[in-house]
Amino acid sequence: MTISEWRQKLKKGEVSSLELVDEYISRIKSIDKLLHSYLYINYEKAKSMAKSIDEARSAGNELPPLAGVPFAIKDNLCTKDITTTCSSKMLETFVPPYESTVTEKLWNAGGVLIGKTNLDEFAMGSSTETSAFGATSNPWDLTRVPGGSSGGSAAAVASDLCMASLGSDTGGSIRQPASFCGVVGLKPTYGRVSRWGLIAFASSLDQVGPFTNNVADAAEVLQVIAGHDPKDSTCLKVPVPNYSKNLSVSISGLRIGLIKECFEQNGLNSEVKQSTLKAADTLQSLGAELVEVSCPRFTDGISTYYVIAPSEASANLARYDGVKYGYRSKDAVNLFDMTTLSRAEGFGSEVQRRILIGTYALSAGYVDAYYKKAQQVRTLIREDFKKAFESADVLLTPTSPTTAFKAGSHKDDPLQMYLSDLLTIPANLAGLPSISLPCGFDKAGLPIGLQLIANVLDEPRLLQVAFQYEQNAKVMESAPKMHFNVD
Ligand code: GLN
Repeated sequence: MTISEWRQKLKKGEVSSLELVDEYISRIKSIDKLLHSYLYINYEKAKSMAKSIDEARSAGNELPPLAGVPFAIKDNLCTKDITTTCSSKMLETFVPPYESTVTEKLWNAGGVLIGKTNLDEFAMGSSTETSAFGATSNPWDLTRVPGGSSGGSAAAVASDLCMASLGSDTGGSIRQPASFCGVVGLKPTYGRVSRWGLIAFASSLDQVGPFTNNVADAAEVLQVIAGHDPKDSTCLKVPVPNYSKNLSVSISGLRIGLIKECFEQNGLNSEVKQSTLKAADTLQSLGAELVEVSCPRFTDGISTYYVIAPSEASANLARYDGVKYGYRSKDAVNLFDMTTLSRAEGFGSEVQRRILIGTYALSAGYVDAYYKKAQQVRTLIREDFKKAFESADVLLTPTSPTTAFKAGSHKDDPLQMYLSDLLTIPANLAGLPSISLPCGFDKAGLPIGLQLIANVLDEPRLLQVAFQYEQNAKVMESAPKMHFNVD
């Protein structure tokens, strides 16, 4: 059921908001013990939010756009009076005294909070295995990862444990799990959506966006969360267009650019490659023109990102010092020990690794060689995109070089893990909007994701191309069945 179908049912009184919430809650109770997509569920709050929607409907009031839509929220978005952990022992007991701008907008638009979802600790990872509270499984194959870092939000939408969810994307954390779980994941233009209340990882890259079952729903959620916010100085002060308006407009004549370098990668799985090229053919059959474009520095994005993101993380995470915030070690006998022990005990090993890399890259002797150099390469990557957009309207690549990998398979090999973001990172470095949507399944029955990238603030076109592809390719209609052993 799409959000707009739900709206009709609610309006006509076919299903009440409370009935819908009850249905999701009972499904969560029977299935989520296998997936662990949620860290926290608040039935009482969900029910009371749903009841107020039902009351508004009975009173004949006009319903807001997302009335009664059950949402799951990545647990790095602050929710007032509800624990927000970032999947870290450091914030295990943190109860924010304020609501993030994006979630506040959802609740004002009638959305219902079902619960908070699992993530890689502080959103650092690609598999949702670094969570301090246990990993999430992929609903298509429980022995595999759902991707990350927003794995809980992706798995919850894929297995119908909410209607839509929010995630955050610093280097691919919405798109890569969307691709591994067979759902739609949208990372908006940097600055399109407020970051206020999103617990910071790498501030020049972080962006909040939706996970949904279809493109039209992604447009509806973006409509609500987009827009200027005086509380976030990087949030753009530009009008929000109507994202649903052009979805049905033909893409005939649009130029789709296939980024050459992405298809020449050694590590690119052949089924993933074939499936994305087939998606390009589908777009061509709809009247789009396929052009080959080159972004020579595209694959340098990964090394650039792994200097910039840890550098910003090392600064952002300095606030967790055991003094004023988060976990405090019980064993410390002096101030120095208190900070070092609190950080050593409160942060997991991936977070510590990032802090070490970032602190090193920013240190006086190395800042020019690493951080400054990375910023220069970032500019070159942005220029490559600029040039590519002279000959293409929207760019096309696979979302991730592979489908979902086995849980534990990259545990001792962080570089292998980092490589799964090879194709998503450049859009973050350039601040561009990008979407992942299902384009097929591999022989093992695992979803494959197609990535589309548009120019700055060109979400309307990005969504139009994605919608036209989705409506014509009908990928999910021939999806294999999800098997759950529910007792
Ligand atoms: N997987 C990438 C990382 O580990 C991206 C994470 C993200 O987008 N939050 O940093």
